[in-house]
Amino acid sequence: MKIFAANWKLQKSPKEAREFFTELLGGANRPILSKKDRRLIIFPSSPCLEAASDLLGASPVWWGAQNCYSEGKGAFTGEISAQIVKDLGGQVILLGHSERRVLFNEGNEFIAKKVGYVQSLGLIPMLCFGETLSEREGGKTFSVIGSQLKEGLKLADRSKQILLAYEPVWAIGTGKVASLEQVQEAHQQIYQILSELGFNSQVPILYGGSVKPENAKELISIPHVDGFLIGGASLETKSFLAIADA
Ligand code: PEP
Repeated sequence: MKIFAANWKLQKSPKEAREFFTELLGGANRPILSKKDRRLIIFPSSPCLEAASDLLGASPVWWGAQNCYSEGKGAFTGEISAQIVKDLGGQVILLGHSERRVLFNEGNEFIAKKVGYVQSLGLIPMLCFGETLSEREGGKTFSVIGSQLKEGLKLADRSKQILLAYEPVWAIGTGKVASLEQVQEAHQQIYQILSELGFNSQVPILYGGSVKPENAKELISIPHVDGFLIGGASLETKSFLAIADA
């Protein structure tokens, strides 16, 4: 099973989201959506979650929020409740995206709490991690990835579903895709780290960072690349579907 997840960040109004979903479903008979060997996931901005619930609810496409708080209810102004996402029918929550880590100072400990909380609700966390350019240039890629995984998965239930997205920070939104060798090496290492941490060998490891229809075919054929997390190229149904069809 290959997984193709769209991270819209703060793009699209609810009206535009509805248009996208209607086009994506293509009259409910777009064959790629019901292929057993692939899963499409959309992470719209929070004001568009209701549109996702309305239009994707009865479809094979999964959806969810781009972040959440580590509790579902209470005095947490401005936060996103995974419980509300669950009530709306969503299945997945994106966590630990590098923009959350860098711009909003989210650390592994806080992210770990969210991972545990999301799983406790019966939803699936998609944990993002990856090194910055200076960490790569300083030869620290695998120690950084190792600690992000070890600490970020501290409260994860090994018996419950989880999705991982390796995203080298320097490749996100820059057009600079990691080389096939870099992706292969990283995914092999991640696979190894997960087994050392006691995770099942079936945990999907997605790659993210400037994935486009032009590079998707080569990237998806790398061992242990189980799908993609896609930013820019997920904003148009045409490019998103072209990647999922790679
Ligand atoms: C992302 O936002 O997670 C991402 C991978 O973006 P892009 O595909 O635009 O690099």
